[in-house]
Amino acid sequence: MKRKWIGTGWKMNFLLAEAEAYLSVLREYYKSNSENSVTIFLVPPFTVLRNVCELAKELPILVGAQNMHWQDKGAYTGEISPAMTKDCGVDLVELGHSERRSMFGETDFTVNKKVHAALAYGLKPLVCVGESALEKEFGASLESVLRQVKIALHGISREQTGEVIIAYEPVWAIGEGSTPAEPGYANSIHAAIRRVLSEMYDQAAAERIPLLYGGSVNLENSRELISESEIDGLFVGRTAWKAEGLIELIEIGSTALGMK
Ligand code: PEP
Repeated sequence: MKRKWIGTGWKMNFLLAEAEAYLSVLREYYKSNSENSVTIFLVPPFTVLRNVCELAKELPILVGAQNMHWQDKGAYTGEISPAMTKDCGVDLVELGHSERRSMFGETDFTVNKKVHAALAYGLKPLVCVGESALEKEFGASLESVLRQVKIALHGISREQTGEVIIAYEPVWAIGEGSTPAEPGYANSIHAAIRRVLSEMYDQAAAERIPLLYGGSVNLENSRELISESEIDGLFVGRTAWKAEGLIELIEIGSTALGMK
């Protein structure tokens, strides 16, 4: 069975003391659960990134940034370059989250530039894609999601896809008051993404790229979601903002996959 993933994006939350407390709960957990079969990653805000990387060093946890610019350096006030991101010690970088797209002018084309930059700097791009509520209502979910995937990976070689992670996060499923996608629906979109990846590259490359689901994952629906054949893992917000929540998800995931 393929290794599954569970990650959490902290968004604009967590001061240093909160991040340290989170990591110390995880450190305790890993004392008696060192053989975990799920790949875990945390995506904290930039202000605590270096600290979290340091604290996670001894743990089987990957750490990512929430965004970065694609340019090497220069007059881009307020931006963080790929080299600066890498310098924090991170393994991956989240790109194209729907909040960045809807509030901060991120487009499919800037995501593509950032995917190239991430790979050039040895960072795994975690590319977020997902259709809006309106696109879903008008029956254009697949067109929207597949366009985002195709443009994000334009010019990326088959070899480079070994480092790419994709998170399918329907915009209508993300955040407070939203409805999570039905596992079967999410699975069918994942299958369509996989088909497009195999057309762009080949079947082996498509199988190798982890396709994660995100959007109102909780302790009730995580088991079914992670058990779906095309869902390689979960990308979680609110439910994992307490370390105990993340640990419960890891336990649910490991049990569902027969690894515990
Ligand atoms: C997200 O914002 O990417 C997300 C998945 O959030 P939540 O789990 O809180 O819906």
